[in-house]
Amino acid sequence: MKTIGLIGGMSWESSLEYYRLINQDVRLRLGGNHSAKSLMWSVDFAEIEELQHAGKWSELTDKMCQAAQNLQKGGADFIVICTNTMHRMAEEVEASISIPLLHIADATGSEIQRKNIKKVGLLGTEFTMKQQFYTGRLAEKFALDVIIPNDEDCQTVHRIIYQELVAGVIKEESRQQYRQIMQKLVDRGAEAIILGCTEIMLLISQADSVVPIFDTTAIHAKAAVDLALA
Ligand code: GLU
Repeated sequence: MKTIGLIGGMSWESSLEYYRLINQDVRLRLGGNHSAKSLMWSVDFAEIEELQHAGKWSELTDKMCQAAQNLQKGGADFIVICTNTMHRMAEEVEASISIPLLHIADATGSEIQRKNIKKVGLLGTEFTMKQQFYTGRLAEKFALDVIIPNDEDCQTVHRIIYQELVAGVIKEESRQQYRQIMQKLVDRGAEAIILGCTEIMLLISQADSVVPIFDTTAIHAKAAVDLALA
C-alpha cells in the first residue's frame, strides 16, 4: 500500500471527511482492521482565506509547494490537495515535487465522462467557478460543457461556503438556496451538478437534486484509495 500525502485544513471540516472516507474505503476493500497509510499537512485556514481574498496567489502557491515538499520528505508516495480552490496552483505544486499529484478535477472529470454526461453545472468558491484553472481543465481534458450560476448566485454559493460550511455551520435556509440555484442550472440544461467545493457535501446530498450530483470530496478520496492500492 502506498502512503497518501494529504494537504488539509482547507477547511478541516472537509479534511475530516477525506480522512474518514479514505479509511472506510480501505477497510471495505482490504477487510479486517486495514486502514490507510497517510500523512496530513494541515494549514491554518484563516491565513489561507485571507490571502485568497487579497488575491495573493503567489504566496499561496509557495505555501502549497512547501506543504507538498514536506509531505514528500515525510514519506508520502503521492499528493492529494483536499480542496478544489487550491488546485489553482496544481501545476506549480506538481513541478516542485518528484512524486505524483492526484488532481481533483481529473478524478471528477473522468467519473463524469464515464457516465456519458456532457453538460454539467458547477458549484464551488467564486475562485473555482470563475477562474479558468478548473472549468478550463474539465473542458480541455474531458470535453465537458461546464456552466456556473449567475453572478448573484455565485456570490451566494461563495458566501455560504466561507461564512458557514468551513465553520461547520449547516443551515436549512442555505440548503434551500443551494437547491434553487441547482435547479436553475438544470433549467439551463445541466445534466448533472458538480459539488466543486469539498465542504458542499456537508450541506447537499443526492436527495437535494433532480440530476446526478458529483461530490468531489468522495470522488477524490476514492481516487486516492485506488492509487494507494494500485
Ligand atoms: N474546500 C473548498 C474547496 O474545495 C474551499 C476552501 C478553500 O478555499 O480551499 O474549494
